[in-house]
Amino acid sequence: MVETGLHRLGRGLADIIWPPVCPLTGQAVDRSGHLSAQAWQRLTFLEAPWCDQCGWPFPYPGGVGASLTLCAGCIANPPRYDRARAPLAYDGVASPLVVGFKHGSRRDMIGQFARWMARAGSDCLDGADALVPVPLHWRRLIARRYNQSALLCRALAPLTGLPVWTDLLVRHRPTPSQAGRTARMRRRNMAAAFAVTGPSRTAGRHLVLIDDVMTTGATVTACARQLKRAGAASVRVVALCRVVRETDPTI
Ligand SMILES: [Zn+2]
Repeated sequence: MVETGLHRLGRGLADIIWPPVCPLTGQAVDRSGHLSAQAWQRLTFLEAPWCDQCGWPFPYPGGVGASLTLCAGCIANPPRYDRARAPLAYDGVASPLVVGFKHGSRRDMIGQFARWMARAGSDCLDGADALVPVPLHWRRLIARRYNQSALLCRALAPLTGLPVWTDLLVRHRPTPSQAGRTARMRRRNMAAAFAVTGPSRTAGRHLVLIDDVMTTGATVTACARQLKRAGAASVRVVALCRVVRETDPTI
């Protein structure tokens, strides 16, 4: 995002009138959208070694063997997407950051979110043709006023040099809340909710889906299925957070 002198002046004035505080700890910080040192320590950042496909972090350095690159879940049920990465574990610490961004108007962390995603998702973003936000149904879009995945795309665009194809995927069916559903129910719930608007633009392209939180992967799996049906050469996923299953998928 290009910051003009006017933006900088406005932000400087705002910081004087409302001194910036860390959104997690409430401690004073240098600039709006920055985290305190304590908040950095409390967040769980995900790092390699991780499953080459879904990005689930292996509990042991190097996995359980030098040859292991996929988790048991991906071996048993290969996901429809080619690769997924997320910089942050979605837990009780990260939740207020993401919920504030998703449901509120709080956007001051978006630059930091995009930098985390660009770093963790570099092997998804390299060589890609475009960023594609996971779409919201129009009713939810009106209620929230913005699509948080599209905002993340726009913040990632200048860091990656990739175009954002906001209108490539649409959600033509609203889906009820996924809370409390099993993985199987979520997959069924998601089926046929998405459609590709431009198959000719999709064919042969390497696309990166952008989402805020990846839980079971049902949403991005549904999107990836539709994009691949429309001829996408590859569909990778970069999310801000992911829920890390508690069970060890290497067992
Ligand atoms: Zn995996």
